[in-house]
Amino acid sequence: MKYFSTRGGSERLSFEDTVLTGLAPNGGLYIPESIPSLPSNWQEKWKSLSFVDLAVEVLSLYISEDEIPRDDLRKLVEKSYGTFRHPDITPLQKLNEKLFVLELFHGPTFAFKDVALQLLGNLFEYFLVRRNAKKSSGEPREKLTVVGATSGDTGSAAIYGLRNKENISIFILHPKGRISPIQQAQMTTITDANVHNIAVKGTFDDCQDVVKALFGDKEFNEKHRLGAVNSINWARILAQTVYYFLSYFRVQAISPGARIQYVVPTGNFGDVLAGYYAKRMGLPTDKLIIATNSNDILARFWKTGKYERVELEAETAAAPASGISDGKDAVKETLSPAMDILVSSNFERLLWYLAYEAEGGGTVDDACAMVDGWMKSVKSNGRVEVPRKALELAKRDFIAERVSDDQTLSTIRRLYESEPSYIVDPHTAVGLTAAQITASESELSSSLIQVSLSTAHPAKFSEAVAKALRSSAAFDFDRDVLPEEFRGLLQKRQRVIDVESADVDLVKSVIESTVDMEQTKSSTGCV
Ligand SMILES: *Cc1c(COP(=O)(O)O)cnc(C)c1O
Repeated sequence: MKYFSTRGGSERLSFEDTVLTGLAPNGGLYIPESIPSLPSNWQEKWKSLSFVDLAVEVLSLYISEDEIPRDDLRKLVEKSYGTFRHPDITPLQKLNEKLFVLELFHGPTFAFKDVALQLLGNLFEYFLVRRNAKKSSGEPREKLTVVGATSGDTGSAAIYGLRNKENISIFILHPKGRISPIQQAQMTTITDANVHNIAVKGTFDDCQDVVKALFGDKEFNEKHRLGAVNSINWARILAQTVYYFLSYFRVQAISPGARIQYVVPTGNFGDVLAGYYAKRMGLPTDKLIIATNSNDILARFWKTGKYERVELEAETAAAPASGISDGKDAVKETLSPAMDILVSSNFERLLWYLAYEAEGGGTVDDACAMVDGWMKSVKSNGRVEVPRKALELAKRDFIAERVSDDQTLSTIRRLYESEPSYIVDPHTAVGLTAAQITASESELSSSLIQVSLSTAHPAKFSEAVAKALRSSAAFDFDRDVLPEEFRGLLQKRQRVIDVESADVDLVKSVIESTVDMEQTKSSTGCV
């Protein structure tokens, strides 16, 4: 299986190069040359498989055996999901006859990004070790320096995915004093030699600007071979398709013949896109429900066919005194911060399929040219409107719902008070609100069952949970929510490099000297 960029060009990459490259040089995202279909009698063959066995089956449809032999793939998958606390990896919770929650937070950082980043880290290591084994003793080793910015959540999943991996250093920038104490402790108490937390005096946007500048610095980038772990990496999407299959079989075992509507709390469109691939491969599902918070570019797209960065009123309301809105100011802070986005980076992949099919009979190159034009328009005008046919196709497979903070809080309360009581994090609550809206609008037919994806453990977003439940006398956060693993975390020693201002050169020099130090240590054999 080869991969190409949504924005065209003749480049066809192996899975390995796709994963190591991340974003295509022309700004596009890599997609597979074709969507593989499921083997005949897959239902019979796969129905009793464990998460790991199922992952090997699904992944091998996208990764040629001569790139990763099946035994190696199995070892990579076993290692990746061996870090999860639940035997099912992504277990299903039944809330009632019509509604299940797919819990994706049983990985090391208690958030769904672990499902993808645990695998991505092992893939990076596997490829680099293999490349270096082919080198003669004098040749320089291939290394990867992963750099990223975080407002709290993604950073820890990336660190846990890459800690202690050979040939990889990871630097995560966070705004000093502006992330929650638990999230800070999750990142900075990891003391593996290849993990470096940089606390920048500034905001999250400042951190992101520094990271962008580093990637844009050709010389620095080439010297250190910068790598990104953001959600556009193809391996992340692929890893996430597995739990759609697993939950499908688990639901079938309980309610044979049930038709499933998946509901997905959505930000950068990675998670729900994985569901789209599963559906296109042949997993029989109903429409996929996209649940957004008030950063609702996707919900607006599904209404109008316009993919538009900022609402006009919001733009004027949020515009700084200078009158220039560069977009940053338009992100609304919500109770579900991991979904606070202006544009959804993975949405471009869906746009490609819409362009290709709307054309009907057009070539791959035609679709790429169309997507390239659309994305250029988004970049320069902040918006694009797709043809009516493309919107119809989007509506065939998806419904999008926008959920407010108030609705999020009342859903957390409603589920806590229902029988059995169930406590959810605010992102999961956005999904469950959308599930409720969709169910009441479409009068679920008797065979339809909803599976709503739970993307984080409630302890990770304690403020929103506490806010929703503070009037419940019986609620006790420490007793009812806090997992064993978080106890004592705040007292552990933290390791962090302070940087006095969001200055690119300052951060560069920190990275250079740290990488040098790591190399000296490893060549003298002392750790
Ligand atoms: C990243 C994240 C999301 C959004 O997932 P996308 O793949 O970006 O749509 C939702 N909830 C939580 C807790 C997340 O960390």
